Amino acid sequence: MKVHVLSLGCARNLVDSEGLAGLLEQAGHRFTDRIEEAECVVVNTCSFIREAEEESISTILSLADRKKTGKLRRLYVAGCLPQKRRNERQDLLDLLPEVDGFLGPGDLPKLPGLIAGQGLSPQGTVSNRFFVTSPVPTLLFESSAPKRRMTPKHYAYLKISEGCDHACTFCSIPQFRGAHRSRSIEDLTEEAARLSGEGVVELNLIGQDTSYYGADLYGSPCLPRLLEALAKVKGIHWIRILYAHPAHVTDDLIAAIRDLEPVVKYVDIPLQHISDRLLSLMRRETDGVFIRRLIDRFRAQVPGIAIRTTFITGFPGETEQEVEELAGFLRQARFERVGIFLYSPEPKTPSEKMPDPLPEAVKQDRRDRLMRLQREISEEMNRAWLGREIEVLVDEPGSEPGVYLGRTFADAPEVDGQVFLSSQAPLQPGRLIRARVTDTIEYDLVAEPVVG
Ligand code: SF4
Repeated sequence: MKVHVLSLGCARNLVDSEGLAGLLEQAGHRFTDRIEEAECVVVNTCSFIREAEEESISTILSLADRKKTGKLRRLYVAGCLPQKRRNERQDLLDLLPEVDGFLGPGDLPKLPGLIAGQGLSPQGTVSNRFFVTSPVPTLLFESSAPKRRMTPKHYAYLKISEGCDHACTFCSIPQFRGAHRSRSIEDLTEEAARLSGEGVVELNLIGQDTSYYGADLYGSPCLPRLLEALAKVKGIHWIRILYAHPAHVTDDLIAAIRDLEPVVKYVDIPLQHISDRLLSLMRRETDGVFIRRLIDRFRAQVPGIAIRTTFITGFPGETEQEVEELAGFLRQARFERVGIFLYSPEPKTPSEKMPDPLPEAVKQDRRDRLMRLQREISEEMNRAWLGREIEVLVDEPGSEPGVYLGRTFADAPEVDGQVFLSSQAPLQPGRLIRARVTDTIEYDLVAEPVVG
């Protein structure tokens, strides 16, 4: 069949979708990027918070309509939703009769065989509908597995580990992604070399907790060792660390970010809050003093580092004073990149039953206030780049002639800022160029290539 894999949610899911698409192609199905052309669609779902789950369900329902009109022959649902809802499998099967099968993130390799095992009943409905989930939902496609890349040619996500051993009270991810498991340094280096051969110049390292990399395989966290190995891979110019956990950041890791040439001076490190009381209720294994010291260490030991972080506002019982404390921390720490999520009570998580849940409007108001503050900080910080020369990775042509989109070392794909490049000469996606900043916006820069 002509197959399309629709990847929802995070980059970790995207890597799974790339592996799944590779396996379906290997089984003889033809892949199409255009969902409207597909005879079969696999939705690789996300459900880490209620909003994400609602988006997954509405996507499935719109595809179910296409199936009802005969525009789609097969529809499959994979990923976090089936795994998270595995105890309600019959409800999902009944609720979504157009879905021909459900499978968890740990079962993706089984799909080609399951599809092959299905036939059509005399009524024309697909027989042998399935709902397959595994107790250990952690899946890591090895380097040798066939993959169909879903990112632009010049950058890729390298999933170095899956699952998580932390127990943050608001988070259900360990419930459906399992315990922490790392890929070997040899396997990851082999994949990095293959990706470089395909034209990749930027590697974004992902997992649930990348700073805990290797603890299961090598006895203790050893991300610096992996970075050293990846730094030797020819053709890779940027290596970026995403999803680090503050509790596992060592001086060796900070030194590796500072000293290893292709490792960009950037770190994504979700902190979630700064109030001691809330960090303890969240079971984040860190407190305010620890976090402030960690940020100071990064700033002192890696001059010019760009720090991305995320916070949760609206946690049960969060007081106005604690929101003010977080605002004060934003003003003092001046993070380059910040995301703020609304607390969402997730089923079967300890915080779901905690007292003093806050009304949605209060949560939203707090998030808006904090994001307004961060926008001002980002605007000020961006203004400091005016007139300066920067290195930019060209991503793609913009919407107008002579305009191109790119990123600096301080911008992870899809989540951070961009550089709007104006150039009469064509710019090649994947090329690293020098450019001079001619203007700044709150989160983005405007620049012109430096000739010669
Ligand atoms: S570190 Fe905490 S928030 Fe992140 S995946 Fe693990 S349990 Fe969830």
